[in-house]
Amino acid sequence: MCGIFGIENHPDAAHLTYLSLFALQHRGQESAGIASVLNGQMNSHTGMGIAAEVFSEKRIEKLSGTSAIGHVRYSTTGSSHIKNAQPLVSKTRHGVLALGHNGNLTNASEIRKNLEARGAIFHSSTDSESILHLLAHSSGDFDEALLEALKKVEGAYSLVILTRDQMIACRDPYGFRPLVLGKLGDSYVVSSETTALSLIKASYIREIEPGEILFIRQGKLKSVKISPRPNFSRCVFELVYFSRPDSVVFGKSVQAVRQELGRFLALEMKEVKADLVMPVPDSGVPAALGFSRESKIPFEVGLVRSHYISRTFIRPSQALREVAVDLKLSPVSEALKGKKVILIDDSIVRGTTSRKIARSLREAGAREIHMGITSPPIVSACYYGIDTPKSEALIANQRELDEIRDFIGVDSLHYLSLEAMLKAAGGTGFCDACFTKKYPIKTPDEVLNFQKAVP
Ligand code: SF4
Repeated sequence: MCGIFGIENHPDAAHLTYLSLFALQHRGQESAGIASVLNGQMNSHTGMGIAAEVFSEKRIEKLSGTSAIGHVRYSTTGSSHIKNAQPLVSKTRHGVLALGHNGNLTNASEIRKNLEARGAIFHSSTDSESILHLLAHSSGDFDEALLEALKKVEGAYSLVILTRDQMIACRDPYGFRPLVLGKLGDSYVVSSETTALSLIKASYIREIEPGEILFIRQGKLKSVKISPRPNFSRCVFELVYFSRPDSVVFGKSVQAVRQELGRFLALEMKEVKADLVMPVPDSGVPAALGFSRESKIPFEVGLVRSHYISRTFIRPSQALREVAVDLKLSPVSEALKGKKVILIDDSIVRGTTSRKIARSLREAGAREIHMGITSPPIVSACYYGIDTPKSEALIANQRELDEIRDFIGVDSLHYLSLEAMLKAAGGTGFCDACFTKKYPIKTPDEVLNFQKAVP
């Protein structure tokens, strides 16, 4: 749950990077940072909070340069602390490097232990720092050392790296997290999502391929493959929940996929009769539209979201999460009074948010609530960079369907089938491990061990 961005060979690189962080802000709100290069000199600034809090005009001016990378972070390994804010900047035998990472390395614990045994001193508790140390310990010139380093790491990584004279973008061979290439005039741009390209009027060229390292120097590209292609495992949850609907992710319009998820859900919920279909905003909106069009049940706005507090899913503590739901979503009594409602949401994690929403809809006068979820039950933790809690905290891992329905307090509860979700997402080549427990990389416990090992 992070967002990364980079632009090479542009006189206004830091300003454009700053703007792009706003477009990627939904991917992480704990810290933000930018590193830039001017005439071979690296400058950087990171801080806790969202981009608007971390950067002032003055700060951006100090980062002026012709290449820049940016990062917004939500911690999935390592604590929420300034030392873990990215881009991580480090002096190596290849000169000063800055690195931004989205994803989780599943063998980080092992790599860190080995490196520490060889004298490496880590400055953060993130898995991302391992990549910098591996780079420093690898042989050959920078390009060869990066390839050697990336062959040693496992798990999910989309990376952007800035050196004194080039920018590098790469994606793990499974392609868990998105990363796209765009162009603005003579400058290449890379971003977690296309929404940042649209914002700065850059054109979308293509995805960085899974397993591809793209070296970008003075507006020229060099593409290198990390390893032979395994089966792709793109995170289906990016399309269901995490990415912005105005982005193209894994070559698909997120908005179109979510409408399709809603349409398939309507087909699977044909027997439910209701007066209106309403989304849990914002991510449920396209799906509720798709549901409404298919079922011919009118679409209604029954919940209004306050945009002035952060999304609840990425609040680290349960106490804060529960308070935030009340602040965030208000029911519209006029729309709900005496109505049979179909409520569309993308997923149920712990169940506590859904329970609060259902309660507030009843208090506002809803007569019946039928909940439709545009993904299957989440039964297992994610080890590849999405902050789902441990399996014990996932309600669908602990309770049967009717127990979940009763806990939430709705009249009926319907999850979209796995087949329909994957069909809407585009078929094959997806990771669906949090729904199926079929992990594409065999050692997911490495991440937990890493978290235990590092305070
Ligand atoms: S386990 Fe779930 S959230 Fe994690 S990468 Fe796979 S599909 Fe995405």
